[in-house]
Amino acid sequence: MAEIHLIGRAASPGLAIGPVTMLTAAVARRTASDDPAQEAAALRAAIEGARAEIAEQIKTNQGEVADILEFQVAMLEDDALADPAYGVISEGIAADHAWRLALDVEIAGYRAAEDEYFRARAADIVDIRDRVLAHLSGVDTVARIAGGSIVAADDITPSAFLAADWSRGGAIALAAGSPSSHVAMLARARGAPMVVGLGPLSWNGQPPALALVDGDAGTVIFDPEPETRRLFEHRMVNAAQAAVDAGRLESARTADGQRIAVLLNIAAPEDLAGLDPAICDGIGLVRTEFLFEASQGLPDEDAQYAVYRRILDWAEGRPVTIRTLDAGGDKPIAGLTIDNERNPFLGLRGIRLSLARPEVFRGQLRALCRAAVHGALKVMLPMIAVPSELDRASALLDAEFTSLRAEGIACARPPLGIMVEIPAAALLAEAFGAAFYSIGSNDLTQYTMAAARDIGAVADLNDTGNPAVLALISQTVDAGRKRGVEVSLCGDAAADTRLTTTLIATGLTTLSVAPIAVARLKAAIAKVRS
Ligand code: PEP
Ligand code: MG
Repeated sequence: MAEIHLIGRAASPGLAIGPVTMLTAAVARRTASDDPAQEAAALRAAIEGARAEIAEQIKTNQGEVADILEFQVAMLEDDALADPAYGVISEGIAADHAWRLALDVEIAGYRAAEDEYFRARAADIVDIRDRVLAHLSGVDTVARIAGGSIVAADDITPSAFLAADWSRGGAIALAAGSPSSHVAMLARARGAPMVVGLGPLSWNGQPPALALVDGDAGTVIFDPEPETRRLFEHRMVNAAQAAVDAGRLESARTADGQRIAVLLNIAAPEDLAGLDPAICDGIGLVRTEFLFEASQGLPDEDAQYAVYRRILDWAEGRPVTIRTLDAGGDKPIAGLTIDNERNPFLGLRGIRLSLARPEVFRGQLRALCRAAVHGALKVMLPMIAVPSELDRASALLDAEFTSLRAEGIACARPPLGIMVEIPAAALLAEAFGAAFYSIGSNDLTQYTMAAARDIGAVADLNDTGNPAVLALISQTVDAGRKRGVEVSLCGDAAADTRLTTTLIATGLTTLSVAPIAVARLKAAIAKVRS
């Protein structure tokens, strides 16, 4: 699927990446009476119910949010808004139908206004319309937005915006909308990037899964190519660096003095450009598949060696964990992964693919053994499900190390660990002879919850904080303790500061995050008290 670039107007600054949630209006059904007096009473009660509900919300909000809600209360208290609806009801039309007809005329009037200020208020009237309709039908018509998602819609109401948890990231991409709308004000206040006026959001076939929103430039890219995404993530890192906080250089410690190692997740040496290695305790995850992705054809042993060496040189002796190729799933690589695999997340990905293509795997293992002489390299295998996969990979690593030595090439045999990202590996972690465990919470969560990591509609279920996922994490930490090997966590949950206390409570003492997240994570760790 080719990526889709859309240009709109910047409405709230910042950069965001996330799964796409398409907002469509819910339609509620209601059984009407044929008595106009009863219908008028039902409308009056629904308007009063909506007004009371908003008044209640005002009590728990301040500033701009409260002002916006007060504007809606004032609209609902103005008889002029409902008068046309009562007029139609007296002619025998049901209350919900009458209210919708009257408000739609009002909304059309606002949308056609000369003045942008009035055009920008249309979403508030839509909000009022839907809230009263919800009271009339007894059904909640406010669209639910999963935290962290990119909301793609024609327009979005303040209620829908306020119902979402924006502390988890996310952004808004609107076909219509206005930078001076109430939602845009709310987005700016909550730090959610927003782009409006993108024009019709129409797709051929499947709606997009992922989007990159640039709230500074006013652009949105749907279904980005891996390289576009990588460059965008790099820009996010640089943008965050502009707001660098001095605490980044301090080692992380909890409020009661426990030392927590904070490592970096990267995809290429370029991700380290301009970064001081003193901000971290090493590199916890190098996703090598992006190296394969960007090159023309698969990179040869020398090309890989040069890249791995650059990363080790940057780390100045700190540990560096490089993961062998994790192609497949959401990371297809032309010429390597299986085209049109029916269920790629459950197919030939990660270590399974490497073992099926030993000629590619051997080249990577050789490059890693050669790089290992330049620093504290550790090698990690992705998508391990059973101990025999580790054993086979370990035998291949031994064989490549032996043959390099026989060829007189400088090399070392790095320790070999596994990612714990399949529930089977977490449940039986102790049975693996791994030199270390690194928990891949992104995949561990999706496989435990049966909720894909890239489908916005199930984003709420894709929750690492779910007790079932946390139990698997604890079990892995216990296995590491019993076997005396290190356990780290390198999935996105490591950067989710709402989970920091919980993750440390499982016994984890090593977290690996994108460079952008280091300062925030260290600040969150400093607040943890056991
Ligand atoms: C994970 O699954 O948590 C992980 C770190 O690996 P990736 O996100 O590259 O699949
Ligand atoms: Mg993974």
